[in-house]
Amino acid sequence: MIYPWLNEFKKPLEIAYSANRLHHGILLSGQEGIGKAEFSEELAKGLLCNSSANQLEACGHCKSCQLQQAGTHPDKLVIGRDKKTIGVDEVRKVAQFVQSSAGQNANKVIILLNVHLMTTSAANALLKTLEEPNAHRYLLLVTHEPMRLSATIRSRCLDHNLAISHYEDASNWLSSFDLINQPWHILFAQQPLLLLNWHQQGDLNQLDKLYFCIENLQTQADLQQINEILKQKPEFISVFSIFLFATIKDYLVQKRLSFSCYQKCIKLLANFDTSIKTILGLNVPLAISQLIFSLQEQFNLNN
Ligand SMILES: [Zn+2]
Repeated sequence: MIYPWLNEFKKPLEIAYSANRLHHGILLSGQEGIGKAEFSEELAKGLLCNSSANQLEACGHCKSCQLQQAGTHPDKLVIGRDKKTIGVDEVRKVAQFVQSSAGQNANKVIILLNVHLMTTSAANALLKTLEEPNAHRYLLLVTHEPMRLSATIRSRCLDHNLAISHYEDASNWLSSFDLINQPWHILFAQQPLLLLNWHQQGDLNQLDKLYFCIENLQTQADLQQINEILKQKPEFISVFSIFLFATIKDYLVQKRLSFSCYQKCIKLLANFDTSIKTILGLNVPLAISQLIFSLQEQFNLNN
């Protein structure tokens, strides 16, 4: 059972598999919180099930399915779960795993989560494995940052990008969790699992507040409140940037901002994002107030 918005992405792989043409390396990309890891697990289930023959549907009760449920399937290897750097030793394990024979049906599956975190030597080792395909061996490369992979690795894989085309599938699913829809939720339309995670962590209230702090950005912003929230939850700073970007874009659409002013605002925001990521010990409250002030200066110049 996968998330309803992911069903359409399984079909082309099912067709290829039943025609014996499924690519040995599949690059599963898409935004964080769309369900890529769950999708790769679902594919692994289908590939390893003893009863599924040429289908990608797991029966749920054969020996292989039971081993998967217990998390002890000998023909499945998952690396990169801890979101840390993937070194060459781990990728060498992948090569050995590919070479050894299968215990259940003929297939073996390797899931490489956060594959963009590979070191250069790990990437070179993986490239070798991808360049020498073995029958019945499937490598599922999972990442939200596919451009951090080398072009050579990407070219050896089937690019399978997950992007939600029917947001209703995700919003209907989310509504079953008593999640009250807020105007900013649409900014995370591609990331339903992220919204659900915030809901479960009790973070939505703080994010609502953060959003409404910049509702009237052109004239005022509640700097004190913004800084209080970000002090408690520094990880929300990227969300704050997304809120600002959306607000600036709205101003452009509403013709409250000329295109040249819009470009300057986007540049200010990009510089802010870079400083946050690269300057150790940055005075965040000061950087935020400078950013808001500079943005408002642009808005005023525009009038
Ligand atoms: Zn089965």
